[in-house]
Amino acid sequence: NTKEPWRPFSSSRVYMADLESTLHYSLRVEVAAHTVIKGEKLISLKKYIAVLAKHFPGRTMVMNLLTSANSWLQNQTGEEISYEAFQEILDNSGQSPDTALPEAETWVGCQGSQPHFRRYPCGVWTLFHVLTVQALTTRDTDPKEVLSAMRNYIHSFFGCRYCAEHFENMARESVEEVNTVSSAVLWLWSRHNRVNNRLAGALSEDPNFPKIQWPSPEMCSACHTVTQNGDHKWNDNQVLLYLQSYFFFDKILSDYLE
Ligand code: FAD
Repeated sequence: NTKEPWRPFSSSRVYMADLESTLHYSLRVEVAAHTVIKGEKLISLKKYIAVLAKHFPGRTMVMNLLTSANSWLQNQTGEEISYEAFQEILDNSGQSPDTALPEAETWVGCQGSQPHFRRYPCGVWTLFHVLTVQALTTRDTDPKEVLSAMRNYIHSFFGCRYCAEHFENMARESVEEVNTVSSAVLWLWSRHNRVNNRLAGALSEDPNFPKIQWPSPEMCSACHTVTQNGDHKWNDNQVLLYLQSYFFFDKILSDYLE
């Protein structure tokens, strides 16, 4: 188990290598834990792939793969599919040129100081934010499409089961509030901060990447305001602008891609 070399990265940027690694892990490891996919899980998988095919801001090769996986899945009208059949599509067994999901796990912005820190869970949050921002950028009109697809994915497949349960409880409690695409972006941001708050100082926290209420004042001073009684208050409009710029597709870096 040789240690991978550290990949220098900017901690204020999003990397496509993390997003592709997340897709690889989710589709080839997490979903692969189910030999047969049916019922609620099949619905979750179809919605997840449909949202990815629509909103993932990926390279042409990856988009071709997601599009082909999406049309294959939407054509599966039976009650179940085998993972093996789905895997053939993922691996592009038909060998269409320029259609592929790379098999690498190349963590960059999601690297951890130890192999058990960060990586895939960090990638899932990043993917989730990118997709909500992408729905806003493309002026999608369905406010809950991305949240609902990701919520179902996490409920059906996310390997950390107590994480999935916590997330489902938060969603059940408050996702009703979301009625515009921008409120979906902000809902996800604020729930992620709640999770950060709960996990700050926990054993799962990478000491080199402490959990903060994100973005810090150094990252976005306009996001933070103080009320007359001296309490901290977020400026939601500024946070929204910050999220839109931070997760904007055209700013995602391609470093370390194969
Ligand atoms: P992460 O929290 O994974 O965040 C990734 C990156 O997103 C950060 O580096 C930062 O750039 C950015 N970011 C941080 N906060 C925000 C924000 N509010 N809005 C937008 N961007 C932000 N672990 C547990 O131990 N217990 C749990 O119950 C648990 N529940 C989870 C539920 C879900 C749905 C997910 C996806 C993960 C969960 N995890 C849980 C894992 C945990 O939240 C972290 O993903 C993991 O500890 C790695 O943390 P990280 O330092 O890489 O930052």
